[in-house]
Amino acid sequence: MASYNFLSKVHLIVITILIIITLLTPFTTNTSPQPWNILSRNDFTGKLTTASSSVESAAIDFGHVTKIFPSAVLNPSSVEDITDLIKLSYDSQSSFPLAARGHGHSHRGQASAKDGVVVNMRSMVNRDRGIKVSRTGLYVDVDAAWLWIEVLNKTLELGLTPVSWTDYLYLTVGGTLSNGGISGQTFRYGPQITNVLEMDVITGKGEIATCSKDMNSDLFFAVLGGLGQFGILTRARIKLEVAPKRAKWLRFLYIDFSEFTRDQERLISKTDGVDFLEGSVMVDHGPPDNWRSTYYPPSDHLRIASMVKRHRVIYCLEVVKYYDETSQHTVNEEMEELSESLNYVRGFMYEKDVTYMEFLNRVRTGELNLKSKGQWDVPHPWLNLFVPKSQISKFDDGVFKGIILRNNITTGPVLVYPMNRNKWNDQMSAAIPEEDVFYAVGLLRSAGFDNWEAYDQENMEILKFCDDGNMGVIQYLPYHSSQEGWVRHFGPGWGIFVERKYKYDPKMILSPGQNIFQ
Ligand code: FAD
Repeated sequence: MASYNFLSKVHLIVITILIIITLLTPFTTNTSPQPWNILSRNDFTGKLTTASSSVESAAIDFGHVTKIFPSAVLNPSSVEDITDLIKLSYDSQSSFPLAARGHGHSHRGQASAKDGVVVNMRSMVNRDRGIKVSRTGLYVDVDAAWLWIEVLNKTLELGLTPVSWTDYLYLTVGGTLSNGGISGQTFRYGPQITNVLEMDVITGKGEIATCSKDMNSDLFFAVLGGLGQFGILTRARIKLEVAPKRAKWLRFLYIDFSEFTRDQERLISKTDGVDFLEGSVMVDHGPPDNWRSTYYPPSDHLRIASMVKRHRVIYCLEVVKYYDETSQHTVNEEMEELSESLNYVRGFMYEKDVTYMEFLNRVRTGELNLKSKGQWDVPHPWLNLFVPKSQISKFDDGVFKGIILRNNITTGPVLVYPMNRNKWNDQMSAAIPEEDVFYAVGLLRSAGFDNWEAYDQENMEILKFCDDGNMGVIQYLPYHSSQEGWVRHFGPGWGIFVERKYKYDPKMILSPGQNIFQ
């Protein structure tokens, strides 16, 4: 015990020194504005491009609020191409920054590399290989550049499926595993990062390692939720289960927030209850838009609108129970029993029965609809938060019924749903609140190119409200403009985050767009 105490003291001192160095020393390693000069002298010509169309598209992302230009884009065709590029930067006197870009669905330049090289991971996708399902092992080995929709299509061919999802499936495996990957299944199965068995990672030194919780475990946990800071993930082994066939998909409207959250919390405490649980908020902002989805029958639009008008803010609980031939005869009864136990406003329950694929891929319809109207490639000043359960009622009063209602600008879905902390893993890099239950809140806004700053102001107002109230709120898909913000973001985990950075990417080459170490 004494030697343990001594070791942890030494450990603490080392971490403290590293933090002080990090805070005080301006990083000087990745300052070369012209990696192209180094690269063009090497074997990369042909794989690298400086064509303005490639550089321009690597400069923007789904958020459309930043434009950060790299010097060049690498279109790798093999793992070696990436390893060679990282080694070249690492071995060079004036290292250059580089970032893996999955599908570029970040909202704040997180996959950018200013004056460096963006690695376009999607160029690695080879339809003939890169995804291998093990029926006996119940896992899939997938190249990190694949989209989750592609993974699902492949595994369903064998009647199998990953269990933890994001709401939207056109995101890469590497991109969501760098963040967390959350949705209505998280309360039950944990985020996507807790459903990974093994990974291949190229570190910031250009070394390639296979890691799992038993092999190179520190690297494994560092990379999961690690915001691209410790290595480029090239392969992940994801757990699978037998896929259900269909989904009973129910929505219930509430006017009372405490009834709504009480029902949500009760449902996520059960191990054999629903398979998916989310929730959303509808705010009275003139003409209703959020709820006017194809979900609600047109005949009900008017009465839902008048309910929103009357109460100003209402809530929608969304649950799903999967079923197949064997459970077909009991699922209706089960859902009826569940409905009776809930405290929603009677008469405001909506039901759909869809295939498993239709349910998981539900956001695609909305995407295609928005694309057809030219409303997809617009600014998305999103704010995603984890709010501890003890603070969610205060958050409702201050943010949903306060800031959002008052400012009257938020459009797009506003999500609010709880998850169980014990389904996460503290050894991973992802930062989460301390309480056993915490809520994911997502303000998924679409804005105009001329007015997105107003939404950004609203985001700052919300963050200030949380900070002033010491609410222990943590950003998901985080953006912090200063290192002080990151230190607060990671809290007690900051020391280990810095220590791992020095260990796996000592020249601070990787994912500079996260703005953590620059
Ligand atoms: P990118 O934006 O390309 O990259 C994100 C970060 O990961 C960058 O720092 C990048 O450098 C790094 N990175 C990318 N690939 C690798 C790799 N192979 N190795 C190491 N680092 C890498 N998230 C949820 O959790 N749940 C949701 O329901 C959800 N819904 C969404 C819906 C939409 C419409 C959008 C646009 C986003 C949604 N997200 C959701 C957020 C999404 O998970 C993240 O933005 C994710 O990072 C996007 O994946 P990407 O492949 O586009 O990654």
